[in-house]
Amino acid sequence: MSLMIIERPSPNHDARPNDAVVSMLVLHYTDMHSAEAALQRLCDPLAKVSAHYLITEDGTIHRLVPEARRAWHAGKSHWRGIDGLNAVSLGIELANPGHSHGYRTFPHAQMAALTALARDIVARHSIPPRHVLGHSDIAPERKLDPGELFDWRALAAEGVGLWPAPTDDMAAAAFASLRMGDRGPRVTALRLALARYGYGLTADDRFDAETASVARAFQRHFRPTRIEDVWDGACHLQLKSLLGRAGEPIED
Ligand SMILES: [Zn+2]
Repeated sequence: MSLMIIERPSPNHDARPNDAVVSMLVLHYTDMHSAEAALQRLCDPLAKVSAHYLITEDGTIHRLVPEARRAWHAGKSHWRGIDGLNAVSLGIELANPGHSHGYRTFPHAQMAALTALARDIVARHSIPPRHVLGHSDIAPERKLDPGELFDWRALAAEGVGLWPAPTDDMAAAAFASLRMGDRGPRVTALRLALARYGYGLTADDRFDAETASVARAFQRHFRPTRIEDVWDGACHLQLKSLLGRAGEPIED
């Protein structure tokens, strides 16, 4: 299908570094009362923020920055060993008041437009499924967006992003949960497995605030019905499944 796109040029962009190839797609919510207010901010030279696209709740797609240019949407961020993901990513903002102003469901028209645009983008840039991310995945200690009301599963069913196999409840129950304050080799193994998938964690044996923020980011993406500072069997099996599907299986 051909996409209807409204041009709404933002001055907030610069050149991608010479060797940078687009390999990631990052989704955001605007966290503002209205789409128009968000468009104005993303086009305000003083704000120094932008994204390549913004999709309103009625499904209208606005192009703010050409894909060849670096938009300023990710900030301090990390995925799979790369820091500062603006250089290698495309950013899409979804109009939504966000957790600051009355977070709400993303309407069907908005999701349909996003799905069409994202399918086109991942095909044109050969973006791997595990590189379709939320801002919260790449900046878990700072960001919540697009948040737990965003339907990553439906997007993956349309061929955009990775989704784990359904969880076996019996197998999940056999896993001893890890939680805030825990310490030891099982925590190190968890942090390394999350890092192997892409999250910005190092080998460390403490389930500290950093570990918890990544656990919550993972849940917000893959298990949005329960977000807490606990890593349970369901999360464990989901992560194993994702690593398997990404071609990097781990032993238990
Ligand atoms: Zn964001």
